Amino acid sequence: MPTFGETDAPLLVVGLAPGLRGANRTGRPFTGDFAGDLLYQTLLELGLAEGVYEGEIDDGLRLISGAITNAVRCVPPQNKPLPVELSNCRPFLAASIAARPGLRAIVALGRIAHDAILRACGKALKDFPFAHGAEHVLRDLIATSTTQARAITLFDSYHCSRYNTNTGVLTPEMFRDVFSKVRESLVPPG
Ligand code: URA
Repeated sequence: MPTFGETDAPLLVVGLAPGLRGANRTGRPFTGDFAGDLLYQTLLELGLAEGVYEGEIDDGLRLISGAITNAVRCVPPQNKPLPVELSNCRPFLAASIAARPGLRAIVALGRIAHDAILRACGKALKDFPFAHGAEHVLRDLIATSTTQARAITLFDSYHCSRYNTNTGVLTPEMFRDVFSKVRESLVPPG
């Protein structure tokens, strides 16, 4: 499934894996999945998306300054990606990150995505422990022939899954707070 959004976007949101009846059917990350309702509603509220989210690939929704992908590209059995699926998909995640020279912020939706991002960036997991609301500066990422390697901030959030939202582990306010901080970080100083 292709990443949703522009290649030159400064923000990349990384989920876990497409849901069987949602993203896997529609072909767009989170689209048609329960988790997509809160994600797209939050992005729309904060001006990080425009249009209307209707859970279909042709709903016309447009991301502003952002792109969305998943750590695992295929529907995992029981919605739990196996370690082998994560390692098989790692080169794709690494390529999605490397292909974004303007990238300044990554949002990890859940610990599995957080770990997958660190591994894809060649960073040690122990140096960047996952915590909801945490911000980690990943240095020396993305150097091209014409630019110096730049730092990217990794923002952690609990995954916006049905389980996490129904149990109150993640409230819409907690989720919005993370994306508000992300949005602030994208505004150039001055
Ligand atoms: N759908 C996705 O595309 N990713 C998730 O992490 C959950 C649902």
